[in-house]
Amino acid sequence: MSLRKNLVFTAIAAISIFCGCADKTNNDKNIAVTRDVFAMDTYMELKAYGKNAGPALEKAEKRIHELENELSATSDQSDIWKINHSCGKETAVSDDTAVLIDKALEIGESTNGALDITIFPVLKEWGFTTQKYHIPEEYKLESLLENVDYRQIKLNDKTVFIPENAEIDLGALAKGYTGDEIMKIFKSHDVDSAIVSLGGNVQTLGSKPDGSDWKVAVRDPFSPEKDMCVVEISDKAVITSGNYERFFTGDDGERYWHIIDPADGYPAENGFVSVTVIGENGLNCDCLSTALFVAGLGGYKEIIKGYQGYDFIFVTDDERILYTGGIKDKFQNISSMTAEVINND
Ligand code: AMP
Ligand code: MG
Repeated sequence: MSLRKNLVFTAIAAISIFCGCADKTNNDKNIAVTRDVFAMDTYMELKAYGKNAGPALEKAEKRIHELENELSATSDQSDIWKINHSCGKETAVSDDTAVLIDKALEIGESTNGALDITIFPVLKEWGFTTQKYHIPEEYKLESLLENVDYRQIKLNDKTVFIPENAEIDLGALAKGYTGDEIMKIFKSHDVDSAIVSLGGNVQTLGSKPDGSDWKVAVRDPFSPEKDMCVVEISDKAVITSGNYERFFTGDDGERYWHIIDPADGYPAENGFVSVTVIGENGLNCDCLSTALFVAGLGGYKEIIKGYQGYDFIFVTDDERILYTGGIKDKFQNISSMTAEVINND
């Protein structure tokens, strides 16, 4: 955990404990009820307003843990573990797992395989699941890539088949779905103003209690302790994939990160160092942020054409910000990089 996250987390935890307000009825609609959760290998901060905020947060936390138990690739009780150890047999899975695999296959298709959830064995080889990092031998990557192909996954209602040597991981999309599920719970509790950050992926419900938009900052991938821009949104998710989020420095002094290009098994290095997707559906945003990071400068235009209604902020490896016109009046560049509006039609 970074020092910054640590401090923020400690500060928020301290405030929550001090207020002792998490589970009491909150009668002042302008006062936030907050809850911090550690799940899915990340710190999550949930904040909701209104009289039902306490019970809504309680339910949301339960749902987060439920999803983690179903979706974790490393817990031997999860659906994903069962699929990965099914030895070529079909596996019965929960509704959530089926929805996510279905979406991963859809976005795998619409991004020409940039999103490929069968990349997991390659990710493991680099050490991203154990933090025992190393640069794999070329021949090893080539042999692992033979089993990377999302088209070999067969989803039939709530039954999943993957070939014997394949393994999957939903790390690229689980948090976006979790955000959507939290928003559903908030709505069912008549909460109409809330914001959550799931390891930096922000999802909002309605607007701030005073009716103004939420201001969401996006990190500067070149100095992740700083923000690079602020976007004003309501009822939307702001989801980022960046090369600074999880990485190690190899013996060769190069940086290697956790988003892998299925074309060669190496960390995707196709022109972008971060990709932010803004839209109403957190699951789509999460899938797209990872996929567009892989697709890079050469592939992004073709993909975003198919996603009207979404906005995108790309940061290139030569320090330029490119963002779509839909957020033109809601976007503030606070970095020293140039920011240029691009079309997505
Ligand atoms: P995100 O932070 O949403 O971009 O997700 C990154 C995570 O997605 C990684 O930690 C891996 O678990 C997984 N992942 C990495 N590369 C890919 C890829 N090309 N397709 C699907 N999942 C990936
Ligand atoms: Mg993602």
